[in-house]
Amino acid sequence: MVVKSALVMFWARLGSLHALESVREARFWNSWLGQPPSSGDTVGRVYSLLEVEALRTGLHHLYTRLKRNKALPGLGGLAVAVIDGHESHASYRRHCSGCLERTIHTEQGDRLQYYHRQVVLMLLSEGGPGRAALRLLLDLEPQRGGEDEVAAALRLLERVLARYPRAFDLVLADGLYAQAPFFNFLLGHHKHALVVLKDPRRDLYQDAFGLFQLTPPQSGQYRSRDCQWQDLEDLRSWPQVQVPVRVVRSQERYTQRPQLTRQPVVRTTEWIWVTTLATIQASTALVVRLGHQRWDIENYGFNEIVTDWNCDHVYRHHPNAIVAFLLTAFLAYNLFHAFLRLNLKPQRRCRQPEIFWARLIAAELYASAGLVATDSSP
Ligand SMILES: [Zn+2]
Repeated sequence: MVVKSALVMFWARLGSLHALESVREARFWNSWLGQPPSSGDTVGRVYSLLEVEALRTGLHHLYTRLKRNKALPGLGGLAVAVIDGHESHASYRRHCSGCLERTIHTEQGDRLQYYHRQVVLMLLSEGGPGRAALRLLLDLEPQRGGEDEVAAALRLLERVLARYPRAFDLVLADGLYAQAPFFNFLLGHHKHALVVLKDPRRDLYQDAFGLFQLTPPQSGQYRSRDCQWQDLEDLRSWPQVQVPVRVVRSQERYTQRPQLTRQPVVRTTEWIWVTTLATIQASTALVVRLGHQRWDIENYGFNEIVTDWNCDHVYRHHPNAIVAFLLTAFLAYNLFHAFLRLNLKPQRRCRQPEIFWARLIAAELYASAGLVATDSSP
């Protein structure tokens, strides 16, 4: 019941338990819950004690339904997930037993700051003609004091792989994850890694650069960018990883038109990735495309749930409540996007931006809350 109220809070983008409480009178709740929602305070208290595994089961249930309906096609034949860390909020004043701590140097002296950080796993899928790609936020794991992000990521993957053994073949991640334990963990579960390689001090980086000087690049195309690609297989200069790795470099040229001058400016950028994928599993072009898609979790995941869904708002500052509200937001996000993709006719969907549907839900809540108040006034 409280989860169903919280789902509506996220769908309508209400932004706080207080706002949820302000629409308790809405008629909508009768059909949704059969009664008005609990007070904001009660919802917060229940969330501090809520069994988060039930939310994870809900997320898995939705995944299974979508998978059965073939709504989650892989990217270039590969089932792909992306993992990344996200800091949900920081505060100098309030803290709980799940808070991480760091010292911030300010002009007034050093101050102890409290914050929460989670590692999140998102499943990607291929879009198609007239059908946008569906992305699912599968699970999260809080980072604990004294451990790094990769340690929390391994705990997350361990749990997710037990529940979703075949959901993905490949995990994308940023340069922080270019660590042997991460690669070996995935290899041990018959999965692949594709990670940004950016530390020039590493043997692997230096060896790859030596070989880049000797290897003529091939021309390629990533979106509108003209690229020069180099693809080195079977590198053994990272012996801590159980198999030889592959390094792919993409030098990309693209044209920008700055708003002020509108004069085209040619820019270049360079990406290097290290992966366990063999050429037979992923061409150079696919590695480049997948490498860029590691940004999907920022662009479509974190940006949206933070900016549009108010996920970083601390609904209740309690370690369990923070995880439970985030998992509820993931469920709301997945259900919302799955509904838009699969249940609305394309012509109706295309006419309206996604925020339209959120406003529609909010309007329904506020309008009928207002109407009930008017009806009951003398
Ligand atoms: Zn805390």
